[in-house]
Amino acid sequence: MAKPLLQLIGLTKHFGVRAKGGRAVVHAVDDLSLDIHEGETLGLVGESGCGKSTTAHMIVGLAEPTRGDVIFNGRNVAGFVGQARRQLRQQLQYIFQDPNDSLDPRMKVRSIVSEGLRAQGRISRREVEERVAGVLRQVGLPADAMDRFPHEFSGGQRQRIGIARALIMQPRLVVADEPISALDVSVQSQILNLMGDLKRELGLTYVFVSHNLAAVGYISDRIAVMYLGRIVEIGRTGDIMTRPRHPYTEALLSAIPEPDMQAAKRTRVALSGDVPSPIDPPSGCHFHTRCPFAQPRCAAEPPVLEHKAEDGAGSAHLTACHFPRRHAQSEICR
Ligand code: SF4
Repeated sequence: MAKPLLQLIGLTKHFGVRAKGGRAVVHAVDDLSLDIHEGETLGLVGESGCGKSTTAHMIVGLAEPTRGDVIFNGRNVAGFVGQARRQLRQQLQYIFQDPNDSLDPRMKVRSIVSEGLRAQGRISRREVEERVAGVLRQVGLPADAMDRFPHEFSGGQRQRIGIARALIMQPRLVVADEPISALDVSVQSQILNLMGDLKRELGLTYVFVSHNLAAVGYISDRIAVMYLGRIVEIGRTGDIMTRPRHPYTEALLSAIPEPDMQAAKRTRVALSGDVPSPIDPPSGCHFHTRCPFAQPRCAAEPPVLEHKAEDGAGSAHLTACHFPRRHAQSEICR
């Protein structure tokens, strides 16, 4: 098999914060490892505070890992500094969640989209114009959009500008952090379809971060489910969406609105309570305080992310659960 384009090895991020009686440590991401291959879309999904955005930030260099490595195209990003690091980072681009916040309202689209390109230097004004016009066309905006300000566009168009800003750097990997969550529902599918088209046209690799499992399932080849800083399940999209082994994945699937009454009668797993604080995560399996299937072992021993016997030794489906779910075809929750 070809080498992964991106490898995350033992990636960990802890923040120090003020707390009652002194300082405390937020365990945002703990010992996260995964591979992403060229041309693949990996969906990273979980509730707010699960560490998915922190993971995204570490991939593109917006946050430094406390421990662990980001290996891009066989090279450890930490080993690069200055200009070499900037060049490496150009191949890793980021699409922000909220286009309203991420686009400077005082800048015209031309300047916003070309900012990274101009920072490289040695590029003529004419080439900038051509590259901006070309990338605007790719995202479905007219070339004259470059002479307008962000407030002259709708939310969906503003997100297209954000995508154009990433694409103009000709990246190999794009990390999209909740790219549709600030958009109207009617526009969300347009952006998802645009991202799918661009991936095929340009041979892109995506990390798609979202709390919306339905959207992640629509666009991803594989899905990694995160809970309190750890991956609890990872596998091909078809397996995760139809045969989830982890109770948390099953609960996320159960929360997707289901218009089909027959399907709605299938196995449902309801989540109780809120996500515990990452300052003091529960012992053993972090999910044991909310898991309807928890047993004494769950609080004592952290489960390892591993193949389960039923999935076969060579399976791409890994689960971190002492008592993984088994589904008869009639019981599949979606
Ligand atoms: Fe639930 Fe136990 Fe599995 Fe954790 S290890 S998900 S608590 S059954």
